[in-house]
Amino acid sequence: MLIDTHVHLNIDEFKDRLDEVVKNAKDNDVLSMVIVGIGGKTNEVAIEIAKKYNLLASVGVHPSNAATHSFNDVLKYVDCQKVVAIGETGLDLYWTENQKTLPEQVVMFRKHIELAIKKNLPLIIHVRNSFEETYEILKEYKGRVSGVFHCFTLGLEEARKIIDLGFYLGLGGVLTFKNAKELQEAVKHVPRDKIIIETDAPYLAPDPHRGKRNEPAYVKYVAIKLAELLNLSYEEVAKITTQNAEKLFKLGE
Ligand SMILES: [Zn+2]
Repeated sequence: MLIDTHVHLNIDEFKDRLDEVVKNAKDNDVLSMVIVGIGGKTNEVAIEIAKKYNLLASVGVHPSNAATHSFNDVLKYVDCQKVVAIGETGLDLYWTENQKTLPEQVVMFRKHIELAIKKNLPLIIHVRNSFEETYEILKEYKGRVSGVFHCFTLGLEEARKIIDLGFYLGLGGVLTFKNAKELQEAVKHVPRDKIIIETDAPYLAPDPHRGKRNEPAYVKYVAIKLAELLNLSYEEVAKITTQNAEKLFKLGE
């Protein structure tokens, strides 16, 4: 059984088809999933969906929303029973608008980190064109907080830095892309107990659904690709990544 550690069932795109999407996920080996908040109403909706379908939630303000959304959206829901992580948070320097809000993003990122330490919860980290900046901030808190670099797409050097910080790699659809050679090579050399899997649905659908709307049922394509790269069976990958996710998110404690 698989755990999809990063989905956005809490955005409008899924609003009218939740029953179907959750059922399809369960029919495709998905035992559970973490519904990730990005600010505003999405945190509350993540918790509502987690309660309704017996899933998990994370609350945060996405770096793209750091200048326009309030951290109160996170504080208000962090103590809900379904919340297993803080995020997504981090830094995004990909979009031009985001390059202008770096100071606000940093302030917001630090608030998430400090709350994660206080609540003893892992962080879900978003990094885009901002690895060094994100790494330098997290380094200050090394040993006090853990989490996952979600949608990891970089190489072995960055993977090692992340693991050295005590964080996990979240592997998603990009791993299945033909042009992701550096990532695929890196994954062969990282400790297996530091890998978890995700879809980031509705974004970044894996092959063979690349370019279409993603959904949690497709996390199995990530597991299949990982099995191929690591020379393991699909069942072994399912077991390892699920155990890792259970450890990171402290499930069953
Ligand atoms: Zn996300």
